[in-house]
Amino acid sequence: MKLTRGGFLKSMAGLTFASLPWSKTGSFLSAQAVTGQSARSTQIQDVEIYPFNVPLKEPFHISLGTISVAENILVRLRTREGVTGWGESCPYVAVTSETQATDLAVGKDLANFVRGRDPFTLGAIMAEMDGFSPANTSMKAALEMAIWDICGKLAGQPVYKLLGGYRDSFETDITIGMGTPAEMAGKATKHVQEGFKTLKIKLGEGPVPDTARMKAIRDAIGYDIKLRTDANQGWTAAETVRSLRMMEKYQMQICEQPVPYWNVEGLKFARDNSPTPIMADESVHSLHDAFAVTRADAVDCINIKLMKAGGILRGAQIATVAAAAGVTCMVGCMEETRVGLTAGAHLVASQKNIVYADLDAFFELSVDPVIGGMQVKDGIVTLPNAPGLGVDIDPAFLCKLHRI
Ligand code: MG
Repeated sequence: MKLTRGGFLKSMAGLTFASLPWSKTGSFLSAQAVTGQSARSTQIQDVEIYPFNVPLKEPFHISLGTISVAENILVRLRTREGVTGWGESCPYVAVTSETQATDLAVGKDLANFVRGRDPFTLGAIMAEMDGFSPANTSMKAALEMAIWDICGKLAGQPVYKLLGGYRDSFETDITIGMGTPAEMAGKATKHVQEGFKTLKIKLGEGPVPDTARMKAIRDAIGYDIKLRTDANQGWTAAETVRSLRMMEKYQMQICEQPVPYWNVEGLKFARDNSPTPIMADESVHSLHDAFAVTRADAVDCINIKLMKAGGILRGAQIATVAAAAGVTCMVGCMEETRVGLTAGAHLVASQKNIVYADLDAFFELSVDPVIGGMQVKDGIVTLPNAPGLGVDIDPAFLCKLHRI
């Protein structure tokens, strides 16, 4: 039966104000709440795990090494009613100490914490997975984002709205790997022509060669484009101060992880003595790491990656720790397809203090197997408006994968 607004109000006329289905803030409670019906629960029945490899268009050099192939894992969960959720692991052994092989092995164990569970008990599922293995964050992230995908579909809302819904589009940078100054300047010019307004420059060799890279890039593109830099632990604390003072004239927005991941004092020394704000990346995986670097007053910003944090919920919690300390955040990525990147985009869209994004990995991959998902135009990311993560996998790609 269709009920007009007028008819609805008449039908409510016999109720006292206190019993009307409006909360104190004016929001309308669900029909289930009115009738006293309890919320329906469901169960995750199937966990499917698909390893896959995608070559990069060209090798990507950073100070930690060179990556030529993304060796990732897709996860598909299915509830007993047939609602599916997608997730992705992109283990990067130099940072998370995981490989595709270790993720596949532990993924079979972690699947036992997901199978048979109500997706809306995600907090409990995560606590149990963390109790089973404090590490393996990339594999946990894959399962976790797939649970969020299901929760969003069941709630009829995009994941970022379930998490807080702060914005629905934002800017991403695009990253330039290490190369000669001329090579990097050429790539910078190309990306500016593609419409990007912010470039992330990989450095970490040393003050003199890295300053030459920054000079070549600024000479090529001028000063209207924002530059941020990432030394990937390549400098000592003293080299950081020297490098950033030498590069000051090239106007860098922020410098990411200049010193080794364990050196929180080095981050603080760099922050206290450099002209450029300092961001932690490899120094912060967990909430506890976020608390440690903020308590030490060592950083201006934290780069959250779902693969380091163990998923969207932990990422949002890291953003909250940072917000409490007056620290901003970025959401970055490893070499995910647009499955993992879209999950990261939902996190960016949900939190006010996530002010930077570095969600560009799919530009480097030779294959994009994702249907839907986040879109990027002129460096601006827009979120899908579909419930859940808003991603699907191209069936032609999926049918070639080996399911575990
Ligand atoms: Mg980084």
